[in-house]
Amino acid sequence: GGGIGGLTCAVALKDCPNIEINLYEQAHQITEIGAGITVWPRTWEILQSLGLEEELVATLQDGFRKDQSLGFEFRISDRKDGFTFHKLFTKGGSPCFHRQEIQNTLLKHVPEFCHIHLSHRLIRCEESEDSVKLYFKNGAEKTVDVLIAADGIKSVGRESIPNDGIFYTGTDAFRGLIPKETFAQLYPGHRTLEDPIIVSHIVVYPISRGRFINVVAFFTSLENEGKPLDRPEIREATKEEVLKEFSGWEDEVIQLLSSIEKPTCWAIRDQYSMKTYVSRRIALLGDAAHAMRPHLGAGAGQVVYSKLNDIYTDDQ
Ligand SMILES: Cc1cc2nc3c(=O)[nH]c(=O)nc-3n(C[C@H](O)[C@H](O)[C@H](O)COP(=O)(O)OP(=O)(O)OC[C@H]3O[C@@H](n4cnc5c(N)ncnc54)[C@H](O)[C@@H]3O)c2cc1C
Repeated sequence: GGGIGGLTCAVALKDCPNIEINLYEQAHQITEIGAGITVWPRTWEILQSLGLEEELVATLQDGFRKDQSLGFEFRISDRKDGFTFHKLFTKGGSPCFHRQEIQNTLLKHVPEFCHIHLSHRLIRCEESEDSVKLYFKNGAEKTVDVLIAADGIKSVGRESIPNDGIFYTGTDAFRGLIPKETFAQLYPGHRTLEDPIIVSHIVVYPISRGRFINVVAFFTSLENEGKPLDRPEIREATKEEVLKEFSGWEDEVIQLLSSIEKPTCWAIRDQYSMKTYVSRRIALLGDAAHAMRPHLGAGAGQVVYSKLNDIYTDDQ
């Protein structure tokens, strides 16, 4: 897979030209449909060690801060008179990126000896003593020594390793990007123009050098947790349904939500934990191995971190 996991893995192998690497991606181009992503210090150090710092910093609004900085401001917002109840300070704050920018940067650093095969959707793999045979939807087949399955939460590679699957958490998230310039004209002085904030279950932060405001508005029906999902995992939403879900919230929230032109709605899924992520010749990476709910903003960070750890351990 050519997500953040697969690409980081390919970049991390850049000093191993003796290994033939093939990266198979189902889409016809390497792209991301998600929007913003928070990168915490440990993940950042790894991205730095891969030589990506300069290019990634160029996409940040204020560069990368090294001191203790405001990461998130937490507000109670589900009422008209909202208030701040906590400010989280961390080393470096909480650098927030556009996913596509991280992915583009990784892509530029993928070593030349890694062959990228687009439009290759893995549908099945067969593991034997000394190889893995891959079958793709386009009819192609390939036998490899080792498969690193970084194919996301609905991993095909995972089918070869005992697991209890994934489930719907009962939470959905409306997501959208608001061009900051337009928003600033409409609502000068709005809190999000200055600081990133978490409002109860709405997460807001600037990305792409502050050109966009990334909004993720979570809503949960606890009774639906674990139930089968009877609609697409990602769908287009309407402004009306978003506003209905958050009616009665403080004005700044309503201003944000009503400024998302084309909201999408994502069903949040989780995965039952697995006893092992590896079999003889298959290793799972990222969401394929340990998909998690996004509330700590740590899924992609965990992918980057676990990959590097594995590679360094193997080297030793
Ligand atoms: C609303 C939301 C907000 C989030 N915010 C954050 C955050 O702030 N910080 C953070 O660290 N994490 C965050 N996450 C989690 C993060 O998005 C994931 O953990 C991360 O994208 C996982 O990367 P991955 O490479 O393992 O999988 P993916 O990103 O899913 O990539 C998998 C790739 O494999 C390809 N693929 C899939 N199946 C096949 C197949 N059969 N054959 C070939 N290719 C295939 C896909 O097309 C894709 O390119 C968030 C998640 C959500 C839902």
